[in-house]
Amino acid sequence: MLVDKQAAGASTSRACVVHSRTLEVLRELKVSEELASRGLIVPRFTVRDRDRVLMTITFDDLPTDFPYTLMIPQDSTERVLLDRLHALGGQVHRPYELTSLAPDGDGVIGAMTTGETIRAGYAVGADGMHSTVRAHAGIGFTGDTYAQSFVLADVHMDWHLPQTEVMLYYSPAGLVVASALPGGRHRIVATVDDAPEHPSAGFVQELLDEPGPEQQPARIRDVVWSSRFRVHHRLADHYRAGRMFLAGDAAHVHSPAGGQGMNTGIQDAAALADRLIAVLRDGASDTVLDGYEAERRPVAAEVVALTHRITRIATIDSVPLRKTRNALLHALDWIPAVQHSLAMKLSELS
Ligand SMILES: Cc1cc2nc3c(=O)[nH]c(=O)nc-3n(C[C@H](O)[C@H](O)[C@H](O)COP(=O)(O)OP(=O)(O)OC[C@H]3O[C@@H](n4cnc5c(N)ncnc54)[C@H](O)[C@@H]3O)c2cc1C
Repeated sequence: MLVDKQAAGASTSRACVVHSRTLEVLRELKVSEELASRGLIVPRFTVRDRDRVLMTITFDDLPTDFPYTLMIPQDSTERVLLDRLHALGGQVHRPYELTSLAPDGDGVIGAMTTGETIRAGYAVGADGMHSTVRAHAGIGFTGDTYAQSFVLADVHMDWHLPQTEVMLYYSPAGLVVASALPGGRHRIVATVDDAPEHPSAGFVQELLDEPGPEQQPARIRDVVWSSRFRVHHRLADHYRAGRMFLAGDAAHVHSPAGGQGMNTGIQDAAALADRLIAVLRDGASDTVLDGYEAERRPVAAEVVALTHRITRIATIDSVPLRKTRNALLHALDWIPAVQHSLAMKLSELS
């Protein structure tokens, strides 16, 4: 049984990058082609200092049937997955909120805000950063919070650079990422020391003006959706406690740099589902489920470390160190093995 406390699925764009490995995993659910047809195929990622390209990472020679990043808003991805769930006869019961969860013989028992209880063989907490399942499983969530806020904005703008590229600009406050979205919109993500709750077109314009392209500057026409949020880097101490499991943001949260959050979560869910099917349908031993943490926690640890490194490097304060960083990146750009290794990491194929 699938329950969600929200009355309806979220309707905002949030995570807009779907990586190669996620598309490989989702192909088994027969949704990758549908996602690709709705999204924008982007085979390149560049790091830029104004008009100068410091580093180019290309995805089009990756060993996969999906050699690109797919730009598609999270509400569209969720819609495609939900339609597939319905087509297979499943449904999400909502609004249905879990308030507590406890072991119960050879299963678990969950209490809902309605006063009802649900008994099940296993519980999977895919219930986000403030996970109720994680709290009741007694699993720690170790890490910290970044000093900066992140601004996200989906905008209409005049932009003269290619639609086939995600661009990361270093700015005095950290980083600004710009990329095209389907439907003529662009996504801007930026680190800022302080931001209004709903950043305006003027605010986003200023974020782009200083680090963005100088020869043909961007001009924001309007903001479709914007948000500000604090980012944490945290990893659950365990992915399993008895018959309770964690997946997605319940198990790991990190900087949006690199767009790894939703991707890692989807891959957790797919890996855990395979193991649960092996136990529940094919009669494998329960110990198969122990392998889930061994398989997925190191992946999240690496994603937390990688995105932390990208964020730390982007938010270097000292001007001489920034110059050194830029020179180093430019030098690394000449080494194909470095580019390939980064492409493998960002696409989650490694
Ligand atoms: C503003 C914003 C922007 C983001 N941008 C990016 C980005 O650019 N790139 C990126 O990779 N990631 C981004 N993320 C993160 C990305 O959205 C998450 O990684 C992803 O949504 C995690 O999915 P999840 O299902 O694990 O958790 P969530 O999306 O948090 O979903 C948890 C679900 O559990 C339900 N739930 C919670 N508690 C209970 C309960 N007690 N009972 C029943 N149901 C419950 C909630 O209603 C919700 O539907 C962003 C997130 C936000 C908020």
